[in-house]
Amino acid sequence: MDRYDRQTKFQPFGENGQHQLQTAKIMIMGAGALGSHVAEQLARAGAHHLTVVDMDIVEISNLHRQALYDESDAYDMRPKVVALRDKINKINQHVTLNAVNKELTPSNIEEVIKQYQPDIIVDGMDHFDIRFLINEVCHKLQIPWVYGAAVGSKGTVYAIDFEGPCLKCILENVPETGESCAINGVLPPVVNQVASFEVSEVLRYIAGKGFSKKLITLDCFEMNTRSTQIDMLKNQQCPVCVHGHYNILDKQHMSSIEALCGDAFLFRFKEKTFNLAHYFPGDVLKENDYVKLISFKDYKMTFFADGRMNVHGVSHLEEAETLYHNLRKSIQ
Ligand SMILES: [Zn+2]
Repeated sequence: MDRYDRQTKFQPFGENGQHQLQTAKIMIMGAGALGSHVAEQLARAGAHHLTVVDMDIVEISNLHRQALYDESDAYDMRPKVVALRDKINKINQHVTLNAVNKELTPSNIEEVIKQYQPDIIVDGMDHFDIRFLINEVCHKLQIPWVYGAAVGSKGTVYAIDFEGPCLKCILENVPETGESCAINGVLPPVVNQVASFEVSEVLRYIAGKGFSKKLITLDCFEMNTRSTQIDMLKNQQCPVCVHGHYNILDKQHMSSIEALCGDAFLFRFKEKTFNLAHYFPGDVLKENDYVKLISFKDYKMTFFADGRMNVHGVSHLEEAETLYHNLRKSIQ
C-alpha cells in the first residue's frame, strides 16, 4: 500500500494535494512546542522540503510539551534544529530539512527568507514581537503565513494572505501583558491542537483550497473551540496590509542588553566572541560547537555561537549592565 494512501483517499486533499505537498517549500519559524509538532506532522504527511529556523538548544523543561526531543538532546545541549533534523530523517528519509540555527531579527529575516524561498511560512514562535516582524516581512515579500499561539490552556490560529486582515488588523497592538508561555505556563494539549490547526491550514492552502478565512480560538481545559469569520476584522487604515509601512522590519538596531522572563537577561556580543570565551571570568562547565555553559559567581550563562548569551541570576538592569561591561572588558 502506498505510504500516503490514507490521506490521498481523503478526496478534498487527494493525489494532487499529495503531489503539491511533496514539492512545496515550507518554512517553520521556531522549533519549540508548536514548531516541533508542526514539523513532525508535515514530515510524516510527506512534505519533502522543510526549513526550520530556531536559536535555542533543547532543555529539560521543554520536554513536557515539545515533540521528538529527548533527555539526551537536553543533556548534550543540542540546538533544536539539529536534533529535529536528525529525528525527522529517521521518520521520513525523503524529507530534506534545512536546519537554520540563528536568531531571527529585523536585520536578517528578509535575507533568511530569500535564501530558502518558502511558498508558505508557519509560525512556531513564542512571543509577539517576532510575530509582528513576521507579519511585516511576509506582507512585504508576499508570502502567505499561518499564525499560531498557545499560552496557558488557550490557543489561537489564523492564516494570513494578502486580501484579508493581517495580524496587525486582528490584534491591533502587542498585548500589554506580554503573554508568553515562560510567564503564564502552557498545558501540553493546547500545543498539539494549535499545531494541528496550523498544519490543516497548510494542507488546505497547498492542496489549492485556500485558507479557511477563519480565526480559531480554543481552550483545551474548558473544552471550548470557536471559529470567527475574519472579513469584518480588516482595518482599512492598517499601516501594514493597507499602507505597506514596515516599522518593525525597518528598525535594524538590536540592543545589546535585553530583559527576559524572571531573573534572566539576554546579552549580545559580536559573533567572533564565542571563540574568545575562555577569557571570560568563571568556568566553562560544558561546551559543544554551538554553545558553552558558563558559571560565574551566582550567574549561569549560556553562550551561543552567534554571540548571544542568556544570563540567569541577574536581579536588575543596572546589575546586568555592569556584568555586560565587565565581560566585554575581559576580552579586549
Ligand atoms: Zn493589516
